[in-house]
Amino acid sequence: MSDALAALRERLAETSDLHRAAAVLEWDQETHMPPGAAEARAHQIGTLRRFAHERFTAPEVADWLDALDGTFDDRPEEDGDRALVRVTRRDHARATRLPGAWVTAFAEATSRAREAWKAAREADDFAAFAPHLRRVVELNTEKAERLMPLVAEVHGPGYAPSPADARYDALLDEFEAGATTASVSAAFDQLRAGLVPLVAEVMARTPPDDAFLHGPFPEGAQWAFGLEVAGAFGYDLNCGRQDRSAHPFSTALAITDVRITTRLDPHFFPTAFFGTLHETGHALYEQGVSPALDRTPLADGASLGLHESQSRLWENLVGRNQAFWAHWMPRARAVFPDALGSVDAEVMYRAVNVVRPSLIRVEADELTYHLHVLLRFEIEHALLAGSLDVADVPEAWNEAMRRYLGVVPPTNADGCLQDIHWSLGALGYFPTYTLGTLMSVQLMEAARRDVPGLDDALAAGIYAPLLGWLREKVHRYGRSLATPEILRRATGQTLDAGPWLAYARAKYGEE
Ligand code: ZN
Repeated sequence: MSDALAALRERLAETSDLHRAAAVLEWDQETHMPPGAAEARAHQIGTLRRFAHERFTAPEVADWLDALDGTFDDRPEEDGDRALVRVTRRDHARATRLPGAWVTAFAEATSRAREAWKAAREADDFAAFAPHLRRVVELNTEKAERLMPLVAEVHGPGYAPSPADARYDALLDEFEAGATTASVSAAFDQLRAGLVPLVAEVMARTPPDDAFLHGPFPEGAQWAFGLEVAGAFGYDLNCGRQDRSAHPFSTALAITDVRITTRLDPHFFPTAFFGTLHETGHALYEQGVSPALDRTPLADGASLGLHESQSRLWENLVGRNQAFWAHWMPRARAVFPDALGSVDAEVMYRAVNVVRPSLIRVEADELTYHLHVLLRFEIEHALLAGSLDVADVPEAWNEAMRRYLGVVPPTNADGCLQDIHWSLGALGYFPTYTLGTLMSVQLMEAARRDVPGLDDALAAGIYAPLLGWLREKVHRYGRSLATPEILRRATGQTLDAGPWLAYARAKYGEE
């Protein structure tokens, strides 16, 4: 048994190294690589990922897992060995269920789809992207059919979804283990019922002045101010760094090397600042994973939703909070005297929380953001169910925009072509953005209950008590516990839209 465990751990360390090395190349591609190297880089990354896949799906890995089956079941669920075997078994089952032919077809189709999407978005030409999206839906349907038995096994005998839900569940499971279409729909129905009237109520008011957010904001000062706040939150730059990229992201190259990127717009303050706070939230999670889990599959976020709960918590619940600006505004005025010299904290707070229906998800405010996610969930589900044809996506999109936000995109580039996800082959991903946001409020409420004086500390710009609580309750586990279990232990609750709705009403409701 201990031989099998030692062999398994050694193999996993090796595949982890290969994946992390590929991630370094991907990070470099988005930050420093000259554009002419794209083709060469694709080969390099492809080779590393393929080696990792081959080493992970080799027959001896199945033998080791079989030898270890049930061995640690008398230990606590989060025990390192027990969790390692459980999570590896799950990853291995998924990896081996998809035949090599599918993996190759998917890699090729999405590589082409990504290029086609860029061009189609540029030219506002949905018809040029449609055949690629059709192929992505086909391949995802095949993937779902192959993974459905595994997902059914996880959910046990009471699990009886409709065929369409079963497909969506199989895809969702990759991003948000434990979630189902039914559980997501229940949360989203609750959210929709409270959110739609609240948005209408806010819209009926005159929006506060936010013209001063258009600056100018010198890029060097933005860079330094964002990092100053990130450092105050606890982001360790001895084990991290910030670079520029077209689309902000964070990436963990090791627990001791977690990087973020940002983009700077001299004419709009929120782009870089809240982008940095968001990515810092992701990075704090990865930096907080127990060092004992490094070089194993457990050294990662428990799910995309839980990851997003961390980014949203620091970006919105901390960074878009009244007390935050009361504390930081003198500093912001000193750093940006031209744009903010005469702006007080209350005016700043209102400006960075303006609610207005917009076309683009990533630029949406805290409230309308979820309406963008709801419509993507509906459309993806319908595509997989076969009840919506790819050709009809633009019409379905625009109809949902009218229904939810009262605005219709003038072009598909600002409508159904705006997001990269489908061109990457990712269906079932969007719901995690909203699930994470709902969890962020559940976690923050629990932190308030557990940590005496938490709000006083936050108002004084002292973030260690909050970060310490998150480290203890969420970060350190990595993937050793599944998201629903982490949430249950930390908050005593299951996923629930109620706390977020109460938060949104208190912040944005009738004054
Ligand atoms: Zn995020």
